[in-house]
Amino acid sequence: MESAVPCMSESRLLCPDCARHALVVGPAIELPADASSDEIALQIVSCANCGCRALAVYEESRRGVLGAEATRHTGYRVPVATLSAIAGLIEQCPTPRKSDCRCPSHLALGVQTARGVWDGLKAHRIETSRSFSLAGD
Ligand SMILES: [Zn+2]
Ligand SMILES: [Zn+2]
Repeated sequence: MESAVPCMSESRLLCPDCARHALVVGPAIELPADASSDEIALQIVSCANCGCRALAVYEESRRGVLGAEATRHTGYRVPVATLSAIAGLIEQCPTPRKSDCRCPSHLALGVQTARGVWDGLKAHRIETSRSFSLAGD
């Protein structure tokens, strides 16, 4: 059963493959804020029900209307090799929860364009057109 009070860290996300709330966030890395988001986290999500794995990006912006927080949680279907490469980078970081970490993994995943927009997906040739929302109920 769904909990009455949803909690971001505990609740399971909707799996696009089996349509069950069984996706859980695995390895994750917090990246530096960019021109539009105050928080950016790159995550590997996996489904406890059907076993599918995907990449997910959690973005949070506190720059909107006063008191309003905008969050976006998007999943991306990526090839297994890409997923493994990203997971490997996250694993090699000594402090994945520190967005100001300057390790090679953070530098590789946190790349930004000259205009200060996070560009980590394109830099790793991740197909952003194959995305799905993780916020859904
Ligand atoms: Zn599933
Ligand atoms: Zn790091």
